[in-house]
Amino acid sequence: MVAVQPLTQTYDVALLDLDGVVYIGDHPVAHAPEALRQARSAGMRLAFVTNNASRPPERVAAHLTEIGVEARPDEVVTSAQAAARLLAEQLPSGSKVLVVGGEGLEVALREQDLVPVSGADDGPVAVVQGFSPKVDWPMLAEGTYAVASGLLWVATNTDPVVPTDRGRAPGNGTLVDAIRTATGREPVVAGKPEPPMHRESILRSQARRPLVVGDRLDTDVEGANAAGADSLLVLTGVTDPIDLALAPRRLRPTYVGRDLRALQQPAEALSVRAGETKVGDWHAVVDGGTLRLAQVTAGSAAEETGPGENHAGEGGLDALRAACGGVWAAADAAEEGSGRAVDRASVQAALDAARITRAPARPY
Ligand SMILES: [Mg+2]
Repeated sequence: MVAVQPLTQTYDVALLDLDGVVYIGDHPVAHAPEALRQARSAGMRLAFVTNNASRPPERVAAHLTEIGVEARPDEVVTSAQAAARLLAEQLPSGSKVLVVGGEGLEVALREQDLVPVSGADDGPVAVVQGFSPKVDWPMLAEGTYAVASGLLWVATNTDPVVPTDRGRAPGNGTLVDAIRTATGREPVVAGKPEPPMHRESILRSQARRPLVVGDRLDTDVEGANAAGADSLLVLTGVTDPIDLALAPRRLRPTYVGRDLRALQQPAEALSVRAGETKVGDWHAVVDGGTLRLAQVTAGSAAEETGPGENHAGEGGLDALRAACGGVWAAADAAEEGSGRAVDRASVQAALDAARITRAPARPY
């Protein structure tokens, strides 16, 4: 018999995105606390990896622990740390760095023996910019004076929005745009999906075989792919099933799971690959750019369905994995000049007909 190992045994460290994976605002994502406890007891180590630079690791760990997810400060990796390391590699120890941001950046700079300053006239040799709700016009103006004078400019990340209880609010990317527009310059970016963030996570967690776990294709999964790491997409955050089915190659994860309970499942139950069109009792066929999803009942072949016509059984993960296998292969073939591009409406119709679980509603 082939040993069937859960992901917790296949990978030594889970590099966990936070928002939409572990928590949403002040609440844990369903099943996350218990699934992470089980992953730890199975021997998997955890690293909590966030693009949000506003809070230092101690505060992030305290927040996690408060909502029921036990976490130590040394298990938290922030984009502020990745940015501070980038700066420390290029500047002499003790260099002054202008901070457009908050406490998370100041702590990360000091950890690298750099000195945070708040004014363009305080002698900075570089500028670092990261999200903080305290960033205001005077701070952006100081940053602009310093960046315009030609100093090295590092941004922790360029996520355009940050989730808040009241909706999407301007994130660091939007605030970076202010200085970019004012100066015409471009920052060096440290956070996901750029390589410094993944490197920081590996350095701090000492992972040998990491599994990146995230809810976003364009940060978590793209960053993992750029680094050559395997990734698990969970459907508890911003990604809808159709986004996954239509993902271009650079945004495709190794695995898809509903939530963090997937860590206890084996790779074979979660993998998603172009061309793998038969998954469980689901079968995907893309014909002339149209996706059809059929459920094969025991002892019989898949029934033929006309274009746009789909069996209406409850689908879920296997149906989604089959759909991705079919659509990805067809999209890749079309890109290489054979076959038609896959019609988005047919993918949506097939997923709807199979009643594939959509991402739960977000509070924003
Ligand atoms: Mg996220």
